[in-house]
Amino acid sequence: MNIRENIPLSTLTTMRLGGPARYVAEIADKDDIKKAYAFASEKNLPTWIMGAGANTIGKDAGFRGVILLNKIRGTEIIKESPDELILKGMGGEIWDDFVAFACQKGYSGIEALSGIPGTLGAAPVQNIGAYGQEISQVITEVEAYDTHERRFVTIKARDMKMKYRETIFNHGPDAGRYFIVSVTVRLKKGTLAPPFYRSLQSYIDEHGETDFSPENIRRMVLIIRAAKLPDPSEEPSAGSFLKNVTLKSPAAIAAAKENGYPTYQKPDGSTIINSGWLIEQAGLKGQTFHGFRVSDKAALILINDSAKSYTDLSAARNEIKKTIKDKFGYELAQEPVEIGDKNED
Ligand SMILES: Cc1cc2nc3c(=O)[nH]c(=O)nc-3n(C[C@H](O)[C@H](O)[C@H](O)COP(=O)(O)OP(=O)(O)OC[C@H]3O[C@@H](n4cnc5c(N)ncnc54)[C@H](O)[C@@H]3O)c2cc1C
Repeated sequence: MNIRENIPLSTLTTMRLGGPARYVAEIADKDDIKKAYAFASEKNLPTWIMGAGANTIGKDAGFRGVILLNKIRGTEIIKESPDELILKGMGGEIWDDFVAFACQKGYSGIEALSGIPGTLGAAPVQNIGAYGQEISQVITEVEAYDTHERRFVTIKARDMKMKYRETIFNHGPDAGRYFIVSVTVRLKKGTLAPPFYRSLQSYIDEHGETDFSPENIRRMVLIIRAAKLPDPSEEPSAGSFLKNVTLKSPAAIAAAKENGYPTYQKPDGSTIINSGWLIEQAGLKGQTFHGFRVSDKAALILINDSAKSYTDLSAARNEIKKTIKDKFGYELAQEPVEIGDKNED
């Protein structure tokens, strides 16, 4: 296991913020997981699990503990039949490589999740979703290291309590308890059927597309994403910075509709308002707050143009949230996690 010292969090996160992490342990196999937790416990230090840092914000003080950087690689076909593919990938695999592999084999279920930055191990943590799909729809189980019981366990999908951006891995008493070693998904042979999620459907209509095969949906999603989402290697961001608003009651849904706010019913039955729409309507698109720019292409994305500190981010966030609260009455919640917040062992 390779352990490095005093590594700036800004180099490990796509938002490019944060002071030094005391230790960073590179996890190359299952044995390294145990070794890294033992190392932290010997030194009585907290731990934090990381993949590509695409949904993670570092704070100015850094992290005084041990970051476990997941680099466990490998993908395995568990079962392939004319109807379905059961595919298992190790947590350090790049999510989009996993998607590309499944699409190329012609199986449907994660094609709309093409192009999401980050690792496979992080994908179930916030139940990644895009263009009408979520990993919750196809995940069957994960293998994980249980830091409480100090052993490897299998967690079935039904026990993950997956909702919009929320699971047992990032919410509630077990947040941060499990190091996800591998993820298994069940995909179906076939194609998705219209109607598609708004922006995908618009693209399809505009270009007269009729091929909805996994590979072609992937191709279209990658084009749509490239046109509006910043490439983290060129423009630092953590993707959607604020979550969509989930309307929790029929009264809230009715009120939103009465106000003319566009609502969207998700496959799980819940109804949301796209927070990007709220931000855009409030006139914040393209505006800069404390070195952070609200993307003029996708209003949910905050791009770090020139900010160097978490204090700036905090100020920018508060101003944006206040504007939305004052104008629409909705309290927006931040999507990316902050190192040291909940996921400490
Ligand atoms: C430009 C851009 C676009 C994006 N678009 C989308 C999108 O369309 N949809 C979407 O859902 N997200 C999107 N995201 C967010 C991000 O890509 C996902 O959340 C992704 O899953 C993060 O992967 P990561 O490896 O970078 O996770 P990290 O940021 O490293 O970690 C995220 C969380 O998962 C935990 N974690 C990481 N690995 C493990 C593991 N092996 N075991 C247990 N816990 C772990 C971390 O502790 C942390 O709490 C986008 C981000 C960017 C920068």
